[in-house]
Amino acid sequence: MIWVHQFEVRVLHPLPKTKEGDENKMIDINKKVAFLDMDGVIADFTTALLLRLGITRITNKTWPLSIDSLSLEKALKVKSEVIEQVIDDPVFWGEMKPFPWMGELLSLLDNFTIILLTSPYKKVHNNCVAGKMAWIEKHLPEIFVERRYSFCKHKWICAGDNSLLIDDTDDNCNLFWRRGGRAILFPQRWNSNYYLISDRLGYVKKLLL
Ligand SMILES: [Mg+2]
Repeated sequence: MIWVHQFEVRVLHPLPKTKEGDENKMIDINKKVAFLDMDGVIADFTTALLLRLGITRITNKTWPLSIDSLSLEKALKVKSEVIEQVIDDPVFWGEMKPFPWMGELLSLLDNFTIILLTSPYKKVHNNCVAGKMAWIEKHLPEIFVERRYSFCKHKWICAGDNSLLIDDTDDNCNLFWRRGGRAILFPQRWNSNYYLISDRLGYVKKLLL
């Protein structure tokens, strides 16, 4: 019998034994968990979207480097319906490239069980979720096969003593931290760590020590 806070938890069955390559293999429950955001952290959602809008390069002029330009709609003066139309196109997700630092970032998290934690978009979630799953299958096949991904806007529900969130949205990190988890705000020009974008991984590495 194991006591967790005030709740009684009974272990009814032994964990199933698994062999290598088994797609249903259990993840190590003793390892800490790193919840890793996709868009803006490992997947270059912004560049793919800007290309659809006819913008080929982000500069400080097209998108000022500042905490005040958190919203893409606001920074680029684009209506949210236009953006929603693009992200509801399942083909769009295939155009999204992994950031060049994706592999190195995953290696930094070797001591964690990595779970992708990404938000579906309201109204247009059907194509978005299918598109993101296809993206994971293509670029992170091991995570896809082991089904180490989760779709939820309210990321703070995953916060706890043994969990870490890496995300590019200030609010997600703040709520996760308030809920008792650790959070690293991944530096991007649209968040309050914008001044650290010249060494994103150096910043993450420092906080993981
Ligand atoms: Mg994000």
